[in-house]
Amino acid sequence: MTDKSFTKGLSKKHLLELDACTQCGECLNYCPVQEVTGDTSISPPEKIRMFRQFIQSTQGLKAMLTGSRKIDKKLLEDFTRAVYECTTCGACNQSCTVGIATERLWPVLRREMVRRGLGPMGPQAKMPEIIKRTGNPYDSPPGERYAPWFPEGVSIAEKADIGYYTGCTGAYCAHPMVRGDVLVLKAVGTPFTMLPAEEEVCCGFPLFITGQHDVLSELVTRLVRAYESRGVRELLCSCPCCVNIMVRDWPALYGRELPFRIRHISQFVSDALRKGALRFRKELQEKVIYHDPCYLSRGVGIIAEPRFILRRIPGIELLEFDRHGVRSRCCGAGGAARKVFHENAIAMGRLTIDEAVEKGADRLVLSCPACYEKVNEALAGHDRSIKIVDIMELVAEMI
Ligand code: SF4
Ligand code: SF4
Repeated sequence: MTDKSFTKGLSKKHLLELDACTQCGECLNYCPVQEVTGDTSISPPEKIRMFRQFIQSTQGLKAMLTGSRKIDKKLLEDFTRAVYECTTCGACNQSCTVGIATERLWPVLRREMVRRGLGPMGPQAKMPEIIKRTGNPYDSPPGERYAPWFPEGVSIAEKADIGYYTGCTGAYCAHPMVRGDVLVLKAVGTPFTMLPAEEEVCCGFPLFITGQHDVLSELVTRLVRAYESRGVRELLCSCPCCVNIMVRDWPALYGRELPFRIRHISQFVSDALRKGALRFRKELQEKVIYHDPCYLSRGVGIIAEPRFILRRIPGIELLEFDRHGVRSRCCGAGGAARKVFHENAIAMGRLTIDEAVEKGADRLVLSCPACYEKVNEALAGHDRSIKIVDIMELVAEMI
């Protein structure tokens, strides 16, 4: 790499934010990775302190006077590990005493490590090539994107105002969830369209979050044009990560305003319940507890809608985690860290299970395919047990 600058890919806002950290440590109280590892070297203030040191050593006043110092490779590798071990959950963002948008800062620092040839980590490095070849990050056959779970008797319109995007994690790793989505859409009765399995490619989130941005615009442009050509005016999706990148980053990656609006499926379903287009026909005499996915609650502010839906189910008692809504604790599945730091993810998933059990819940309701996959994995072999269900899987069961 010829350009050694640590600030090249950072905006003025990022630089101000890096400078603003007072090292107060408040965010450590909310970081789920801290909670399960106790390793402060991967904490938000430590990552910021290290990155500031890299800038100082190469571009600071002393560096200008006496020449740029070479940064120890081990230090760079330690920093890279720290920035990739984070689940990018944004709890530090929420709790930061000086308002640093860390949730948006970590992906930028990851991108910087990719630019230096140090990131991403392990299997993440193969994702761009795999996505180019198969359209998904799991190296799964594109033709099998829908077939294993798509319910019988549901018709997909050629063109429609409503489009439904499944997302790779739901389509390949959380079948009950996407099956539930489609059954609920069918029950609402508004025609909806989907892209053919081979055309519904990755939304770009795994590449964005691991700092590998090269093919992002291409993927987004392909998807936006495909939905536009099907007359879509409202694109629905249940995956919080997909919705997050669609809302926050797709317009910039596409280069202009999107020709349709993006909505999380819970927004569409809560509207349908309000209008009477959807009704619950069964009762559920159970206590359920809802886990807010980080990218849905903190990320795009969808907190009330899933609760509105659950409270409409006759007989249900809705419990809350101590940390819920924007303060939700990450279940461990985020930030593409779960495949690399598997043990952390399992430990975090078990904290969620344990609290749900301690609160006396009969079911743990999730609303994210990554949570669904990982918390189910955390349940296997754990000494506590609870039924796990996706919110649309439950809605489909109750109508
Ligand atoms: S984003 Fe979440 S996991 Fe990452 S440092 Fe902040 S609190 Fe910890
Ligand atoms: S809360 Fe904010 S200012 Fe305090 S250590 Fe964390 S990132 Fe820095």
